[in-house]
Amino acid sequence: MAKNTYAWGVIGAGPAGIAAVGLLLDHGVRANDILWVDPHFQVGDLGGLWHAVSSNTSVQLFHEFLNGIQAFEYASRPQPYDIDSFPPENTCDLKYIAEPLQWVTTTLKNKVKTEVATITHLSRDLGHWTLDTGDKKSFHADKLILATGSTPKSLNYAQYCRHEISVTEAMNKSRLAKQVNQDDVVAVFGSSHSAMIIIRDLLDCGIKAVVNFYQSPIKFAVKLDDWILYDNTGLKGETARWVRENIFLKRHPKLKRFVSNEDNIQRELPLCSQVIYAVGFMRRTPISTDINLNNYDLNTGIIAPGLFGAGIGFPRQVFSPMGHIEMNVGLWKFMNDMRLMMPLWLRYGVN
Ligand SMILES: Cc1cc2nc3c(=O)[nH]c(=O)nc-3n(C[C@H](O)[C@H](O)[C@H](O)COP(=O)(O)OP(=O)(O)OC[C@H]3O[C@@H](n4cnc5c(N)ncnc54)[C@H](O)[C@@H]3O)c2cc1C
Repeated sequence: MAKNTYAWGVIGAGPAGIAAVGLLLDHGVRANDILWVDPHFQVGDLGGLWHAVSSNTSVQLFHEFLNGIQAFEYASRPQPYDIDSFPPENTCDLKYIAEPLQWVTTTLKNKVKTEVATITHLSRDLGHWTLDTGDKKSFHADKLILATGSTPKSLNYAQYCRHEISVTEAMNKSRLAKQVNQDDVVAVFGSSHSAMIIIRDLLDCGIKAVVNFYQSPIKFAVKLDDWILYDNTGLKGETARWVRENIFLKRHPKLKRFVSNEDNIQRELPLCSQVIYAVGFMRRTPISTDINLNNYDLNTGIIAPGLFGAGIGFPRQVFSPMGHIEMNVGLWKFMNDMRLMMPLWLRYGVN
């Protein structure tokens, strides 16, 4: 009979799940004590949805991620990847980090037990977690890491503008170009890195106008001697340069910006032909009837004894030297935060 009880389970094979499996192995957990579950094993949303997005972190941090975990065996890759030769200080399209991570995924899959499945239900039994799949299989794990990612949030102003373009569609310039034409006035909600990329790409597509509704002011990341102001929320690199030139130094003639309040929305949104809500992300988790998966310790990733969260769905809260609170997001940070938490996770269970 196939084994269905493990010391550790990792749900999700995006960058955070990859790091979690690698770090468990680096900490001496035996490979056949680890169950790794994902429906695709294709580097998560980074590999599937954000391929064509230009990164807001440097190539250097991607190199450090790939080389930072021994179990990845990145030094023994059969051939170099494009990203290996990119200048470390540059940024790059995310497909260039997804490619080597797909190789790392295969390397790890050859070590641990994997299950191609979606976990539809999670429950706690005496001493272990029970993971149920959509096709009626069950697995047990003493300890479990959720690295299940997040999905874009939306708003509902369909009464003013019925035609919505999804963020995932909008973050891919060639797909976005197919959704719009030169007569379109497109509303974009948000002022984050994603919203600014979408606005820039819409204007490049030659549409009639973009109307941007925003709540928070635009923030720029500023590199200081030993820390970065607005490291997780501020605009960086090429996107920051574009915003400075097209919003602050000179307003792009086809771009209007309004604070996102009811008056402005009621007046301006009905004049738009399509709308894109780039308003952040929300945690994606399996269903659980006996544990609140949305309540986790922001400093340690602990959800419950033996249950931990990692990656974009469960980022660590960090404080800047000037007291700002931000959520630590990005591959390199997921790895470093998990490295910090792992000794704790190894000891924090019910057995
Ligand atoms: C537009 C955008 C740009 C970004 N740019 C950068 C960047 O430049 N640099 C950077 O470092 N980071 C960037 N990030 C942040 C982050 O690195 C990515 O969001 C990354 O994909 C998060 O990795 P993850 O593993 O946490 O989640 P995901 O990549 O979303 O992976 C989650 C995985 O879990 C699986 N899963 C979910 N639920 C279940 C279930 N119930 N059962 C089994 N499997 C499940 C999914 O199928 C998926 O494979 C960006 C994010 C976005 C949205």
